Amino acid sequence: MRVPLIDLQAHYQSLKPALDEALLRVAASQVCILGKEVEDFEHAIAAYTGTQFAVAVSSGTDALLMALMALDVRAGDEVIVPTFSFFATAGAVARLGATPTFIDVEPQSFTLNPLLLEERITSRTKAIIPVHLFGQCAAMNDILCIAERHGIPVIEDAAQAIGAEYVNGKKAGSMGIMGCFSFYPTKNLGAFGDAGAITTNDEALYIKLKQMRNHGMEPRYHHKFVGGNFRMDALQAAVLNVKLPHVESWHAARRRNADLYTRLFVDYGLASIIPARMACRDFPHCPECATQPIDRFSNDTVLLVPEQVYRSTQIRNYHIFHQYTIRAPHRDKLRNYLAEHGIASEIYYPLPLHRQECFQHIPSAYDPFPIATCLSAHVLSLPMYPELCEEQIQYIVQTIAQFFDI
Ligand SMILES: *Cc1c(COP(=O)(O)O)cnc(C)c1O
Repeated sequence: MRVPLIDLQAHYQSLKPALDEALLRVAASQVCILGKEVEDFEHAIAAYTGTQFAVAVSSGTDALLMALMALDVRAGDEVIVPTFSFFATAGAVARLGATPTFIDVEPQSFTLNPLLLEERITSRTKAIIPVHLFGQCAAMNDILCIAERHGIPVIEDAAQAIGAEYVNGKKAGSMGIMGCFSFYPTKNLGAFGDAGAITTNDEALYIKLKQMRNHGMEPRYHHKFVGGNFRMDALQAAVLNVKLPHVESWHAARRRNADLYTRLFVDYGLASIIPARMACRDFPHCPECATQPIDRFSNDTVLLVPEQVYRSTQIRNYHIFHQYTIRAPHRDKLRNYLAEHGIASEIYYPLPLHRQECFQHIPSAYDPFPIATCLSAHVLSLPMYPELCEEQIQYIVQTIAQFFDI
């Protein structure tokens, strides 16, 4: 059996007539950039995320860049980011000449650890960017509480978390001052190319962002400030308008798949139902477990399954499983074994941000980040998409059990 990491072809086929119709509609209109398709999408995405305003832009990376530009982040400023994320989170900061301040993540959620946040805030801190990694919201109530105390705005990197919920049904992108989304084709809501959006409840920011995506122009050929070309194409908006009404059912399918994975891992004796909280048994004394083979993660499990973290009984944490990411010993050997058996997998992310070559001049890059270091050595994201079927998941778990000789 062959199982890809994601099956964009199956996804397309599930909505082909409506998508083709939308593409031809744009072709016939020859309104290629912005226009009604984009405006409709902005209204729809604001409504879906429970925010007042949305600005459709060229990518998730540009959404982050624009959000920082809108807050006037510049050289000499610091922006706090988790060190375990996709590069764009810190790249956007660095592109403005500002310095990303890295902090470690929580072992159970892989997201920014609020316990480490306050000690990293300085008089130069201009923003905090928690990342809702793999489809699960960061500890937003704690993060917002600390940020508020210091008067620092929070920009949500919700690129992987459209529709994820946290605290009384609040959706990703509606909690901070701005929420940044990516509609890269493999995200839970994917366009047919690069696209992104910024959500906000702040009208002044909304107006500024709309001007910014068009070179700070207002009125025509009069430029208030230097923006850029951050516009969304009508074709991308048309695709997203067709897909958005289905995104909840896709989340539900991903959650069903995640449940099945976890149930099977438990049935095979590979994982316990409540995953161990620590990345490895010797945590936190094992920053070098990147190089050290680990036989077991805890006394009763072979591997760790991803957790939908319940932070308190008041919090509904709705994980949309952009990725289903296990932590496994002998990860690289396991990955090769899966590949030999036709199963794709991916390592998100093999090198934390603080270890990237381009950030070696940053002082905070030399702090120990035991969780991120341990995660990069052990995480493995398994195939995850709505159309993934039960037989495929069974085959994957069975193959992993075979690898561990169970
Ligand atoms: C995908 C992603 C981005 C960047 O989005 P693009 O649309 O690819 O530019 C930013 N942050 C995170 C966490 C992402 O996963």
